[in-house]
Amino acid sequence: MTSVSASGQGAEYAATASEAYQAALRVIETVEPRIAEATRKELADQRDSLKLIASENYASPAVLLTMGTWFSDKYAEGTVGHRFYAACQNVDTVEALAAEHARELFGAPYAYAQPHSGIDANLVAYWAILATRVEAPGLAEMGAKHINDLSEADWEKLRAKLGNQRLLGMSLDTGGHLTHGFRPNISGKMFHQRQYGTDPTTGFIDYDAVAASAREFKPLVLVAGYSAYPRRVNFAKMREIADEVGATLMVDMAHFAGLVAGKVFTGDEDPVPHAHVVTTTTHKSLRGPRGGLVLATEEFAPAVDKGCPMVLGGPLSHVMAAKAVALAEARQPEFRTYAQAVADNAQTLADGFVKRDAGLVTGGTDNHLVLLDVTSFGLTGRQAESALLDSGIVTNRNAIPADPNGAWYTSGIRFGSPALTTRGFGADEFDRVSELVVEVLSNTQPAAGPNGPSKAKYTIADGVAERVHAAASELLEANPLYPGLTL
Ligand code: PLP
Repeated sequence: MTSVSASGQGAEYAATASEAYQAALRVIETVEPRIAEATRKELADQRDSLKLIASENYASPAVLLTMGTWFSDKYAEGTVGHRFYAACQNVDTVEALAAEHARELFGAPYAYAQPHSGIDANLVAYWAILATRVEAPGLAEMGAKHINDLSEADWEKLRAKLGNQRLLGMSLDTGGHLTHGFRPNISGKMFHQRQYGTDPTTGFIDYDAVAASAREFKPLVLVAGYSAYPRRVNFAKMREIADEVGATLMVDMAHFAGLVAGKVFTGDEDPVPHAHVVTTTTHKSLRGPRGGLVLATEEFAPAVDKGCPMVLGGPLSHVMAAKAVALAEARQPEFRTYAQAVADNAQTLADGFVKRDAGLVTGGTDNHLVLLDVTSFGLTGRQAESALLDSGIVTNRNAIPADPNGAWYTSGIRFGSPALTTRGFGADEFDRVSELVVEVLSNTQPAAGPNGPSKAKYTIADGVAERVHAAASELLEANPLYPGLTL
């Protein structure tokens, strides 16, 4: 048991959770035993793998158990106290609690707990910004009393207004997310988009370049936040840039919400006091159920509150209940210890790579993630990801800035510390992890396919994968996932 572990609540908690899961699996077995079996196997596999995927974590049994209830059966379109369905009194309790915990935890004036995922949260935010900030003709101006009275010509005018706004977001290859204006995503189609990147020499965000781009492009929305940028962002500066050009600052803190909740990111690095709208997922560093949240200032609250019916259908009430439980956990002092350990452990991992001469984007980290440039090993991201997986190390390949191998094969591997920190890994373990990763990659060679050189094929020197897998298992056994939980 460690103070940072989600499951480190003591033997009694683990015994009670074991009873709950054993009973649940027996019930499931009466209908579809193969699902019970897959559920058992998933836990065994998660227990036996060195999970370094930066966007994943291990939620507590309390959070997980909360999702398996009859709240799943309830329709509750609308908002607290204002539903389009009857008998939503208990969903109201759940949603109000989730929003209250989110407001208190993040110090936000308003919180919306309904988005089913991070992408949904971003869609809600975009539409709320359009609805609030775009000066479109009102119903009266168009001579209508009701929305159904609008003519096709009126709708054409509205579409021309709402569909032609501008968004400036971080490019995918420098660490932004698909939803920040990437062309294949709807955000890159519904907005005129422009992307900002990072300084080609340092890999850091160049705020002067962002400001220059914003002055020229004059976006309605400036998006800050990332999926694969290993550094902190100065949100006060981002807000200054937004204010100078009259843009709305939206921060997507999906990846680092846990570091904001745990007060590792404060002052200029805390997006909540600086952004107009903040979106997040709840399942990454925040260690909650799979879902999304939107936080907003009073100005944007009324539009965000219309997430349903604007872009969402019925809320996932069982998941909102689990969000409330996870947010209550994140308000405990132990969560601050956890968040600090996440940042410290990422630092140790980065230092371990640097001292072993592995190339890192930006040369290090000061958040929860590390981006390894695997061209320093003569590999593509795809080859490196597969070789690590063969050795029991689960990561994901990721593009690096101006990636010569594109978004599919990539040249990077993204590592994150949130999941293994939940298991209780500390500095010694993370240093050992960097050693194991370097051992695998320095013993992996690109191999040819049937038609010549391949970006996917590789060979690992004899015995390396087995040796590293055994060393990884030792680390995992010393830091068990859900200690005391038996199925
Ligand atoms: N925003 C960011 C920054 C992300 O990294 C992700 C997911 O990876 C999302 C949004 C989307 O979250 P979801 O997968 O829950 O839709």
